[in-house]
Amino acid sequence: MGCPQPRAFPGGAFSGAGMSCLRLFTGLFRRFRSMVLRRPVRLAGQCALCGGCCRNILLMYEGKWLRRPGQYRAMLEHLPNYARFEHAGYDDYGFMIFTCNRLGEDNLCSDYEGRPPLCRNYPSESIYYQGGRLRRDCGYTFEAVTFRDAILRRLGRRPDFAQELGKELHRADNGRKKKEDGQP
Ligand code: SF4
Ligand code: SF4
Repeated sequence: MGCPQPRAFPGGAFSGAGMSCLRLFTGLFRRFRSMVLRRPVRLAGQCALCGGCCRNILLMYEGKWLRRPGQYRAMLEHLPNYARFEHAGYDDYGFMIFTCNRLGEDNLCSDYEGRPPLCRNYPSESIYYQGGRLRRDCGYTFEAVTFRDAILRRLGRRPDFAQELGKELHRADNGRKKKEDGQP
């Protein structure tokens, strides 16, 4: 079974109960870094149509990742369109894993026009800021500027000492030659 893919309903809280402490910390650190560097994460790439994110899905409802069938039933009362997500088991932390019955054998969505917002918005940057990551085989990637990147860029803008010294020596050498040739 692949890594479960978190999907949050619109308006759901960012920090669901399914987040481990490490993931919560990672998410907070990423937000802090983006804020300090003023460089939000960027979504790059394109969908490789692998269908991977339509299997092994974690669902969030009213700010909580689903753990119990009762939560799932309560969700369906308000969102009957989500009956497409079928309970397929539990992950290592006891959260419900779902798969979607609209996924075709060709790995394409058979209800593309009617797919819910959580599918339309996937993958969103909020996954990154929740400390999550995308599947390794996903065609998208999150591109973020790290503190190391920022430091290296800043160093790169500084004048190179050896280069500046070489220019000075070259100027001095030219001046000496002109004097020797009697030029003003
Ligand atoms: S509705 Fe379509 S896009 Fe959404 S999980 Fe199902 S197959 Fe994937
Ligand atoms: S896992 Fe990534 S590449 Fe695969 S279908 Fe989902 S968005 Fe597209």
